[in-house]
Amino acid sequence: MSKMLSFTAPREAWLEGFSLPLLRWYDASARDLPWRREPEPYRVWVSEIMLQQTRVEAALPYFLRFMQRLPSLEALAEAPLDELYKLWEGLGYYSRVRNMQKAALILLEQYGGRFPRSVQELRSLPGIGEYTAGAILSIAFGLPVPAVDGNVLRVLSRAALSREDITQPAVKRTMTELAGRILPSARPGDFNQALMDLGSGVCRPRNPLCPSCPVREACSGYAAGEAESLPCRPPKKEKRLDKRTILLIVSPDGVLLHRRPEKGLLAGMWEYPGRDSWLSLPQVRALFPAANRISQLTDARHIFTHVEWHMRGYLIRTASFGCPEDCVWAGEEDVYALPSAFKTYTALLDRLRGSQTETISGR
Ligand code: SF4
Repeated sequence: MSKMLSFTAPREAWLEGFSLPLLRWYDASARDLPWRREPEPYRVWVSEIMLQQTRVEAALPYFLRFMQRLPSLEALAEAPLDELYKLWEGLGYYSRVRNMQKAALILLEQYGGRFPRSVQELRSLPGIGEYTAGAILSIAFGLPVPAVDGNVLRVLSRAALSREDITQPAVKRTMTELAGRILPSARPGDFNQALMDLGSGVCRPRNPLCPSCPVREACSGYAAGEAESLPCRPPKKEKRLDKRTILLIVSPDGVLLHRRPEKGLLAGMWEYPGRDSWLSLPQVRALFPAANRISQLTDARHIFTHVEWHMRGYLIRTASFGCPEDCVWAGEEDVYALPSAFKTYTALLDRLRGSQTETISGR
């Protein structure tokens, strides 16, 4: 019979009560995923970046498409930015794919197209943090390096019954040290992936499936009846609410798109032009006195990490006019990825284009 585990329990007790049962469970239930079948560094890296903030099921078709189009560091480094955005469209956080391209260039120029085998060197690359470095080193190279993401932090906080604030860097550091201490040297990549799988599928944030968990006999949080209340976090801050007006300006040249500034939210991405407030219909009419027709569209919301957009949309049909600075007229055949924040309006535009192509694009 295994004993409950604490931070101070010896490594042998963790290995016997936690790590080995976890690996046995992984052997029996691990999902067959393309980056697991061929765990090359490039594939592991792409999969890990995609899986940040995205579920496996949702990321899978993106991964397959990405690998088909950009199967190597060279292909990634040479891809036009708008194509990268298109491949990433729907995953959000576009800075991730921009950073991947920057990192690919550095890997080609400074490392001969190979991934370095040290945490320090990997972390010096854009977009690669401690977690991703650990995942690449352990999964692709079989090196004994922990990979601690939010799922793993939750599992370990519960298993070791940590009631400390998990958002504190010192607490995270303690958890990472624990993850390193309980890592079986023979199969570090499998162990890290098993911990991630356990966190996402069994030790879920709400309603953890403790009765069917492979490590429940060693789990101190479960024994104490505190699994669901861990890990401890400070109360969430209220998100800022931003009102925005979205303008779908359609002329015979296409729909007008604006490139956002290179810094800040959705940096460098295309968007529909707009205003940082809600405009009324008369105010929009005053902005476009020569428009053929202006109609108000449905409202929409989008939630970012720290801010929530409340959007009011207008469709403006107008004759062509000169393209303003940082803007393009995008025709139907042009490839411009728009962030999912605008998906309500992109879907409306697609429907309008489908039913009234001549009116919208003049084609
Ligand atoms: S027993 Fe419950 S709390 Fe403990 S690791 Fe398993 S699922 Fe998580």
